[in-house]
Amino acid sequence: MRQTLVMGNWKLNGSKNMVAELINALKAPATETPSVAVAVCPPVLFLGQAQALLTDSNIALGAQDADIHDQGAFTGENSPAMYSEFGVHYVLVGHSERRTLHGESDAMVAAKFAAVQQAGLVPVLCIGETLEQFEEGETLAVVERQLHEVIAHGGIDALANAVIAYEPVWAIGTGKTATPEIAQDVHAAIRAFLAKQNADVAAAVQILYGGSVKGAGAAGLFAMEDIDGALVGGAALQADEFAAIIRAGA
Ligand code: PGA
Repeated sequence: MRQTLVMGNWKLNGSKNMVAELINALKAPATETPSVAVAVCPPVLFLGQAQALLTDSNIALGAQDADIHDQGAFTGENSPAMYSEFGVHYVLVGHSERRTLHGESDAMVAAKFAAVQQAGLVPVLCIGETLEQFEEGETLAVVERQLHEVIAHGGIDALANAVIAYEPVWAIGTGKTATPEIAQDVHAAIRAFLAKQNADVAAAVQILYGGSVKGAGAAGLFAMEDIDGALVGGAALQADEFAAIIRAGA
């Protein structure tokens, strides 16, 4: 039985005030829905503040990206080892904004995935097709290629301690959500692809949907057999909206 996981990706948003207000507002909904795992991924600068606020809560902390090195001459980077000092549990890898805006290749994403696991943290592997690829019918080819690179690097067992987030790029921040049926078809295909290599890993891995998820549509997504939660951007910045998504998972 896979637990529903609702994760907020705050991207480059927040302030000390906002972090305090948002986290404090999410504690009650998270406590009231013990069957749902909840996590927030604030910008790196706020991880320390968030860690302190989250003490004694059942909300987990995540980071949005990681370098592949633990330390060294890599100006501007943050390492998985440093995250673990701040109580970080999850790290997003391969978010489409990293792939597009920072030119992260599948190989780089696979290396980041491995580095995160090496530090004892749980990578959340973000995969998904662009609008053009969607319209060309290339969705499955794209997500399988993105998954293949990680499996080629770390083996199928690497997915045993990871989360997958399917985020069609055309649905991210656009207000266009994939219908539950479209998302379910892709999630089922991802699970079938993994099952060819290891049925147990495929059955156990949480596959989140991401892309304009809001409180109103969340229950329909979570009702689908292979949708195990959501990775939420814009709506994760509004306490009421994010709380509604958490409650939809209960
Ligand atoms: P969105 O972002 O919910 O604002 O579409 C999702 C994401 O990028 O993870």
